[in-house]
Amino acid sequence: MKLKIAIQKSGRLFDDSLRLLRECGIEFNNGVNKLRSEALNFPLEVLFLRDDDIPQYVSDGVADIGIVGENVAIEKNRDIRTIERLGFGKCRLSIAVPRSFEYDGLSVLEGKKIATSYPFLLGRYLESKGVTAEIHEISGSVEIAPGIGLADAICDLVSSGSTLFLNGLKETEVILKSEAVLVAHDALDAERLAILERLLFRIQAVRKAKRNKYILMNVPDENLEAIINILPGMKSPTILPLAAPGWSSLHSVVQEDDFWQIIEKLKAQGAEGILVVPIEKMIV
Ligand code: ATP
Ligand code: MG
Repeated sequence: MKLKIAIQKSGRLFDDSLRLLRECGIEFNNGVNKLRSEALNFPLEVLFLRDDDIPQYVSDGVADIGIVGENVAIEKNRDIRTIERLGFGKCRLSIAVPRSFEYDGLSVLEGKKIATSYPFLLGRYLESKGVTAEIHEISGSVEIAPGIGLADAICDLVSSGSTLFLNGLKETEVILKSEAVLVAHDALDAERLAILERLLFRIQAVRKAKRNKYILMNVPDENLEAIINILPGMKSPTILPLAAPGWSSLHSVVQEDDFWQIIEKLKAQGAEGILVVPIEKMIV
């Protein structure tokens, strides 16, 4: 019995999806066959698909689970469960208008034509805001629609904003903040669920490790107490005496989010020789 996972065949999510599986210790034959591939050391079979098709395959049970942008998972509106956010493929789905357009709120789009590949998400958003616009569905190159007179505005994925800028557009509303998510068929049997649990356990360990850093530093003993209070730590920091009297070596784990703030406070308390080391896996 193998769990089948669908991932994007090529495109923005391909590298990171495969990397995540590899970081979970799952190995594949070199020369990955571009349709399907069986893991060598884990009961997993990978199906390589177009991202748009993944929600359908997972809801039909052809694949048991899949990795897809949340934007696609929601847009396709299938019976699938989102089980984990994966932290890559980050982008936002936004409304943009020509730079010359005087935009002072969503209501200026009332009765206007908006081009998008995301009619469901856009429709849901407009409805929630009580605005009625004409949604014009197109499958690609949405950003050129206003320039060629096809629409007054667009709703499309943005990451840096440079594509919008190059097409003379400005972003006016963010309707969804998206990232890659792990989705699952909503009625997996016990055997498949057990494999999914094992995979999820590894994914969470990898993700947690990325959010945390291991730090080591030398601290003057008289400030030990103050320094311990700065560190959130897993349980409590490890403290080892140094050969130099009055100094200790202190080891702990800190989260990326508050990392620089913590470093500044540590320095202010006389910590020296601070080393910051990436963590590969974190099992807590
Ligand atoms: P496919 O051939 O599989 O249909 P695609 O062209 O539809 O590929 P990609 O452009 O590879 O899709 O994007 C896949 C996903 O990557 C998007 O659905 C989105 O979740 C995410 N993504 C991250 N940043 C961006 C961005 N700047 N533009 C578009 N998608 C992005
Ligand atoms: Mg696609």
